[in-house]
Amino acid sequence: MADAENLWSTRPASALRAGPEVDLATLDRSATPGWEGGKNEARTFMAARGRLLSELQERLFAHGRSGGDRSVLLIVQGLDTAGKGGIVRHVVGMVDPQGVALRAFGVPTAEERRHHYLWRVRRALPRPGLIGVFDRSHYEDVLVARVDGTVEEDALPRRFSEINRFERQIAASGTTIVKVALLVSYEEQGLRLMKRLDRPDKHWKYDPGDVDTRRDWDAYQAAYADVLARTSTDVAPWHVVPVDRKWYARLAVTELLTQALVDLDLDWPRPRWRVDAQKRRLAATMSEESLQQAAANAEEEIAAYHQDEAEFAAAVARADTSPGPSGPAPGPAGDPGEQDGQDDGGASPSGGRSDVAGEPPARTTAAGRAKKNRKNKNGRETTARAQETRTTKRQKHKKDDRGSTSAAGGRKKSAAAGRKKSAAAGRKKSAKNSSGKKTR
Ligand code: AMP
Ligand code: MG
Repeated sequence: MADAENLWSTRPASALRAGPEVDLATLDRSATPGWEGGKNEARTFMAARGRLLSELQERLFAHGRSGGDRSVLLIVQGLDTAGKGGIVRHVVGMVDPQGVALRAFGVPTAEERRHHYLWRVRRALPRPGLIGVFDRSHYEDVLVARVDGTVEEDALPRRFSEINRFERQIAASGTTIVKVALLVSYEEQGLRLMKRLDRPDKHWKYDPGDVDTRRDWDAYQAAYADVLARTSTDVAPWHVVPVDRKWYARLAVTELLTQALVDLDLDWPRPRWRVDAQKRRLAATMSEESLQQAAANAEEEIAAYHQDEAEFAAAVARADTSPGPSGPAPGPAGDPGEQDGQDDGGASPSGGRSDVAGEPPARTTAAGRAKKNRKNKNGRETTARAQETRTTKRQKHKKDDRGSTSAAGGRKKSAAAGRKKSAAAGRKKSAKNSSGKKTR
């Protein structure tokens, strides 16, 4: 798995993370925060990341197949032409579609309208082992619903707190939430809509209502700013992605998704049966000739396995050394609406998987997750044996390491110290900010 040059000077998880104050008026939507290269470098790097992403996804899928409880949910929000479809096609499209649960949310159907607005969302949550992708989401219920006036202004605080609590439950039941707000500039949106009108093969993407939405631009910007400020929590932070350069948006979301999977730190699950016993059973059904052939293949297969594993470990190590701080201070401290005690119908998220009432909120730090994994009640995720294997692996990485420091401040406790080779060098580069240019 040859790796292209990693030109992230600041991980997008840090560079794009929404703080407590989000000033969309000054956000440069053609900026490329954290990325020191251009489009060509991005293309090469994304291809390499795609291979890693795909391998990580296979591990997640295997984990889900063997009783694990982890999943990932990518929530993609953005106005028309922001490139939501492009993210699905070019980023999510790099992994095995079997492992993806994609759901696009449109205007609620008659049936959906009869239920609480989170009802349809809950039903679409990814099962363990899957990467769920929401093209639009429950956030439409505090965006378009707000701008169109179907939800009153004074009902918004309650919705924000419901959403925060909902996402906290989802996170606590094993889902890593990655939220991306795709921010296109007014000018670029105009150009992209006009292109849809110019090209008959793009007419299907155009909706006359898009121009009505565009007319409400300022109201949408204000609604987005509120969403970003009120619903960026420690367990489900928002990432503000400038999308006027499509290649950057795709690169950034690829990196966010890859890092989320790296942070899960999943090994291949251990089978519940004995390999040698199964080999004997199978052998009893095979001809002498086939057995000889299998024996001849075995060495090659084992070597291929070791090589794949080594390449994967190296790619993860490089991904994990992405320089930059451990992440900014969490956005809004705590959850402003958590005390409201509002209920949204009471059903548990994730199709009834949640058994987390009263549990402390899940944390997004790898250290926190590692801790959670260790104390996982049902023990499916991290058996003592698997833990041991991981520790051994980590020690192995450590041995390989020549230039590591712990200056990253324990960013990823479960990551090998040996994965930090280039971190010190990269940290010297200053974090770039994405603001500074009026977009309208
Ligand atoms: P598209 O993503 O272009 O297929 O469009 C989907 C449309 O559904 C957009 O105009 C959204 O604003 C609209 N939509 C999605 N969710 C909701 C919702 N909860 N309430 C009202 N409109 C919605
Ligand atoms: Mg549309």
